Amino acid sequence: MTTPRSVCIFCGSSERAAATHRREARRFGGILARAGIELVYGGGRVGMMGAAAEGALAGGGRVVGVIPEHLMRREVGHTGCSELIVTANMHERKATMFARSDAFVVLPGGPGTLDETFEILTWRQLSLHDKPVVVCDIGGYWKPLADLVRHMVRRRYVQRSFLGFFSVVPRVDDVLDAIRAAPPARKPVRADRI
Ligand code: AMP
Repeated sequence: MTTPRSVCIFCGSSERAAATHRREARRFGGILARAGIELVYGGGRVGMMGAAAEGALAGGGRVVGVIPEHLMRREVGHTGCSELIVTANMHERKATMFARSDAFVVLPGGPGTLDETFEILTWRQLSLHDKPVVVCDIGGYWKPLADLVRHMVRRRYVQRSFLGFFSVVPRVDDVLDAIRAAPPARKPVRADRI
């Protein structure tokens, strides 16, 4: 694809994870801002999510936060976003993040990040979209994820083509090139079925 207009990040909300991860999230926010690409994310101030938003805002970028009403307090809804969309529930949050984004980037995170990542990958598997997904394997954090997918392929729970639905890069500096290099879908996409 060409340079995306907006990029959605999936990443952790934990405040206790590695400071290096948070620094990289912040740096990625800056990279998007410099490239003039809008950041779409979960709308909180906590963890990697907050760090990426701060990095983008500090760089003069546009940031769209998408947060369910019930998480406004727990994830500290970021009222400094360029646009803060408050949704009624989690499903509306994910649907909005999907609709507002041209590509998805997975930074280190926990179960919520995995949920979002596999939802977007399984939607791709079902030809519901053809948006690029890039896993940013900072410090090798996502190696077990790539291993798990290869394990599922070996045990024939998923076709080898699934491996083509995402790319893995080691550093946030490599993400935009990976998005631009992502292949288009081979079948027609049906976003109306999401
Ligand atoms: P985590 O990776 O567990 O720190 O979660 C990252 C983000 O994913 C947080 O903003 C969570 O609110 C969000 N999240 C967790 N579970 C879900 C879900 N089922 N649907 C949508 N977002 C979720």
